[in-house]
Amino acid sequence: MDAYRTLREEAYEANIEIKRRNLAIYTWGNVSALDPDRAIFAIKPSGLEYDQLQPELMTLVDLDGKIVDGKLKPSSDTKTHQVLYRNFKTIRGITHTHSPYAVAWAQAKKPVPVFGTTHADHCAMEIPCTPFLSPEAVKNDYEPETGNLIVETFRSGNLDASRINIALVAGHGPFTWGESAAESVRHSVILEEICKMALFTVMLDPLASPLPEHITKKHWERKHGKDAYYGQ
Ligand SMILES: [Zn+2]
Repeated sequence: MDAYRTLREEAYEANIEIKRRNLAIYTWGNVSALDPDRAIFAIKPSGLEYDQLQPELMTLVDLDGKIVDGKLKPSSDTKTHQVLYRNFKTIRGITHTHSPYAVAWAQAKKPVPVFGTTHADHCAMEIPCTPFLSPEAVKNDYEPETGNLIVETFRSGNLDASRINIALVAGHGPFTWGESAAESVRHSVILEEICKMALFTVMLDPLASPLPEHITKKHWERKHGKDAYYGQ
């Protein structure tokens, strides 16, 4: 009996979902699922395409980056996931993709402004984008430094990772997280739509102004505020 079966299945399902939602081609994305009690996460193995994946092939890694169980090498981005789990204590799942609209904003090194209610329903603030990694950081240890860069961007911007569940890494792409692996994928799907709409907005009007604060606040609060009334 595999003691980590549930965790592996959660990670497997979430990885399949990024393919199903057209967020990644070939091997260009990875999702992990954390078991906070055991401080272990399951993550996609490196270099495997989505149709080759099986729950039992998910690799288990602890929060020190040590492989706990699994025959295959974990995703090359594993240490980025590890740094995010260590620093953002409430998160239970992380998704990384190279979905084109989110990557376009990351490559332009632009935070995504709140242009409309689609964005405000998900997040009441602009989506942050990190600066480029420094030459020292790349030379030192690229993947954990990518995680450190996200953490530092949140720290210096006084951003709360339990309220903003997305970061764009400059020149690279999006990382999203959530209360489960499935939630983190959902946030990547929403992000891609927000980035697509925002791109069209600036194409139509490069000087488009963000949504007024009172509308942003209304949309955020009716879904996430203490008196939220959206949904059943
Ligand atoms: Zn990547």
